[in-house]
Amino acid sequence: MLKIDTEKCSGCKICEKICPFGAIVIIDKIAQVQDNCTLCGACVNSCPVEALSIERKPVPKEELDKFSGIFIWGECEEKDERTVPKKVVRELLAQGRKLADRLDQNLTVVVLGDGKLTGPETLITYGADRIMRCQHKLLSSFTTDSFTNVISAIISKEKPSVFLFGATPHGRELAPRVAARLHLGLTADCTGLEINEKGELIQTRPAFGGNIMASIVSPYTRPQMATVRPNVFSFGDPDNSRKGEIADFKVVLSPASIRTKVVAIERLSDEREVSIEDADIIVSAGMGCQKKENLKLTQELADALGGVMAGSRAIVELDWIPHTKQVGQSGLTVGPQLYIAVGISGAIQHLVGMSSAKTIIAINKDPNAPIFKVADLGIVGDAMGILPVLIRELKK
Ligand SMILES: Cc1cc2nc3c(=O)[nH]c(=O)nc-3n(C[C@H](O)[C@H](O)[C@H](O)COP(=O)(O)OP(=O)(O)OC[C@H]3O[C@@H](n4cnc5c(N)ncnc54)[C@H](O)[C@@H]3O)c2cc1C
Ligand code: SF4
Ligand code: SF4
Repeated sequence: MLKIDTEKCSGCKICEKICPFGAIVIIDKIAQVQDNCTLCGACVNSCPVEALSIERKPVPKEELDKFSGIFIWGECEEKDERTVPKKVVRELLAQGRKLADRLDQNLTVVVLGDGKLTGPETLITYGADRIMRCQHKLLSSFTTDSFTNVISAIISKEKPSVFLFGATPHGRELAPRVAARLHLGLTADCTGLEINEKGELIQTRPAFGGNIMASIVSPYTRPQMATVRPNVFSFGDPDNSRKGEIADFKVVLSPASIRTKVVAIERLSDEREVSIEDADIIVSAGMGCQKKENLKLTQELADALGGVMAGSRAIVELDWIPHTKQVGQSGLTVGPQLYIAVGISGAIQHLVGMSSAKTIIAINKDPNAPIFKVADLGIVGDAMGILPVLIRELKK
């Protein structure tokens, strides 16, 4: 229930302008909540005198069962001057489709923006039943406040049973805000999602430094929310025969509800270089490369194969490569066709970031190195002696 502290309320009308549902009105200079309040929480943070708060009671099981549908945040990015959904959205759609079929529920992708999205219907060919478009000029760039307000409003109105986000920088910022706003559970950085016999979402993620895999359920709140690492789930070819619906969600946003403004976007990395998350071929260096100068060999091998270079956390900590190239639990998850691990031991925190690669080749002088347990092909020996031979043969 939305509570209004009438002693504090000054009747400034900010909450009235912000509410996406017209559910709060100012009468006699005091805010009054209407029956159609969905408890989305958008007004609470906006009140300059903290006169608004939400009191939530535990929701009975029968109420939780009324929540239905798998929702995915269709995060978009600019590519070649077009606004397109990120690759992780197609990965979530592939897994979301399996969850939706298991529960016999619909799969919806929620796309926020100012209307420049190219071809949203492509998401239907990847498994969505419905695209929910949320268009507003204040959604032209990602800001945590605007996106949190809209996603919270959608959840309050549509009542989905599951809401998934890519564990991208923006997804990792947005999902916890929504969860905190609506008092929901959230499992971050999942590497697996299944439905159990009770119809609950089993969210799997590494825990205790990656040494065990934890299976987490959210039995008391809906939607069950999770962020999922890119490159964990694979997706197939689009199915052009699939049919779906494109619906518009009426967005109400006021500038007063957004505390940050995107002034300019500066890219730190070279845009011409493929991110390791999107790369098909990765040559990854570890401490077995011995010194920074030796990385010119791993770079040369990557160039000869038309791939990119990455590395373990150990060499990132030594500043041999930037953090944007770190593979693993505290770095990025990659899913290339070919991953060549050069002088990497294969610690669990590294493996969780690369074991979904299609083919793994490991070069290590220790035949018992754990990396060989996940490798399709292993070369035992001194990497500094093996790399020049490989490069020479490839160049031939
Ligand atoms: C909370 C947490 C998060 C972490 N996150 C990450 C992460 O995201 N990514 C990550 O990578 N690590 C992460 N780590 C660190 C991880 O546990 C390992 O310490 C790290 O991956 C080791 O890097 P490495 O394999 O390059 O080095 P090492 O473990 O030192 O292994 C070097 C390997 O090179 C081999 N070698 C040595 N010389 C040669 C040679 N001449 N030729 C061939 N092989 C040789 C050795 O046999 C050895 O197997 C994390 C740790 C913690 C606790
Ligand atoms: S924003 Fe706060 S102070 Fe202003 S009308 Fe609403 S409840 Fe009252
Ligand atoms: S909680 Fe949401 S629906 Fe209710 S009054 Fe505030 S903004 Fe409107």
